[in-house]
Amino acid sequence: MRVAVIGGGPAGCTAAYTLRKFGCDVHLFERDNRIGGRTSQIRKEGFNLGTGALFLMGGIYPRTNAILKELGHDKDVVPWKPTTHIVDWDRQRYTARFDNVTSFIMMPVFNIFDRLKIVIAVVRQLISPGPKSLFDGAELAQYDHGETLDIWSDRVLGKKATNYLTLPYMGFLYAVPLAWQSTPLFQGVVQQFYKLSLQVPPEGVGQFSEWLIEGTPGLDLHLSCSVQAVHARDGGGYMVDAGGKSYDVDGLVMASEPGVAADLLANIIPQDSAVKLRNCRYSEYAHVQLCYKKNPWPNFPASVALPATDLRNWGACVLLSRRHPNSVPPGGEAVGVYFYTPPLENMTDEDIKDEALIAVTEVFGAAPEPDFIEIFHYKRGLSLSPPGHFTTLNSLHAEMPNGIVLAGDYFAHAGVEAAVLSGERAANRLLGK
Ligand SMILES: Cc1cc2nc3c(=O)[nH]c(=O)nc-3n(C[C@H](O)[C@H](O)[C@H](O)COP(=O)(O)OP(=O)(O)OC[C@H]3O[C@@H](n4cnc5c(N)ncnc54)[C@H](O)[C@@H]3O)c2cc1C
Repeated sequence: MRVAVIGGGPAGCTAAYTLRKFGCDVHLFERDNRIGGRTSQIRKEGFNLGTGALFLMGGIYPRTNAILKELGHDKDVVPWKPTTHIVDWDRQRYTARFDNVTSFIMMPVFNIFDRLKIVIAVVRQLISPGPKSLFDGAELAQYDHGETLDIWSDRVLGKKATNYLTLPYMGFLYAVPLAWQSTPLFQGVVQQFYKLSLQVPPEGVGQFSEWLIEGTPGLDLHLSCSVQAVHARDGGGYMVDAGGKSYDVDGLVMASEPGVAADLLANIIPQDSAVKLRNCRYSEYAHVQLCYKKNPWPNFPASVALPATDLRNWGACVLLSRRHPNSVPPGGEAVGVYFYTPPLENMTDEDIKDEALIAVTEVFGAAPEPDFIEIFHYKRGLSLSPPGHFTTLNSLHAEMPNGIVLAGDYFAHAGVEAAVLSGERAANRLLGK
């Protein structure tokens, strides 16, 4: 079977890898000059900067782990145990470890009664049914009862736990207000807290896609090659227009973002399906990396700072050399400042850089001017999954014409595991498995 995979993020790379394993002829088209999508890395003046993703998440990323093992790279990923400062509205700080949920409960901001309430809620949650895979949209749909995460967290864990546990966690992962999110992913994290750990490939999360491509011999990879149009062929199959050529294929994996899939497939899929794809909500997202050739804070006692309330514009400050030593030249440091979505609507890139400098001084202390600042500003950064999202998106699979399958993290919450799972499933659907 000849297949075109459109989009070279982790979803498309996983689909291409799976299809080649089963002997398909695969063309992978990627608009950028590098693979990895929102996980890709860029190199500049000795720094290796992540354009998006920061880490993999251990036991709650089972398909990612299985593929790392198949590729022989499971032992290469570097564990990250980030000491984390939870910064309160009055600048009081509490110390925890992001990869260890129990360390949050031990923070002195919680008294014995708060802790008891949280522990009882967690035990109740542990014995309740919940999604086994936290990134499978079909499973998540079954546990989405229409409640938003702020209301669920206040009700089940208590207001204090919402501010000092749910908010810093989900703020770091998704950077949008809890009221914009549904509950199943966080409920699942609570149920599987003991499986959570953080890892980073030695060259950054983007290396995962690079490993997939290396592990896919015979793949026709087309970089800097945006797919312009897709046409249905008389008698079955499709023509894909990209880079001034037309490619004749039997199957298509759409692994771009949903709006692009809607545009490319507009004349091929039902109109309602195109509307569902176009209506998939995304957050605007920006992060800034402040790069210092000489580390201003070599002895700072934490590597991450997260606000305990959503009164700030930033959702996380991260000392990147601690996460991923190869991200900086020897003796250097890079700080990632990750912004909350709502304030971004009213901020220019200059405002974002200025705010990042203020945040870093507040969190880590005074420092000279950075050697350079890199800003990554996505108008469509992370897909959102408000109540109802999983059911709507999941229904799309059955609506696709023969030979077309959809992949992308947007079927679940954003995240590498969501992308990998969707890419693998898409390939298997095309292969009739
Ligand atoms: C700032 C940030 C931080 C994040 N942190 C984490 C994290 O720590 N851990 C984690 O697991 N996840 C994280 N994520 C989420 C993670 O990056 C995504 O879930 C993942 O990249 C989704 O993969 P994907 O393949 O579905 O989409 P993408 O990575 O977006 O890939 C889609 C690809 O399609 C290409 N494309 C689009 N249109 C066309 C076209 N017409 N022709 C050819 N190619 C096209 C794009 O160029 C892109 O490369 C983060 C994301 C952001 C933005």
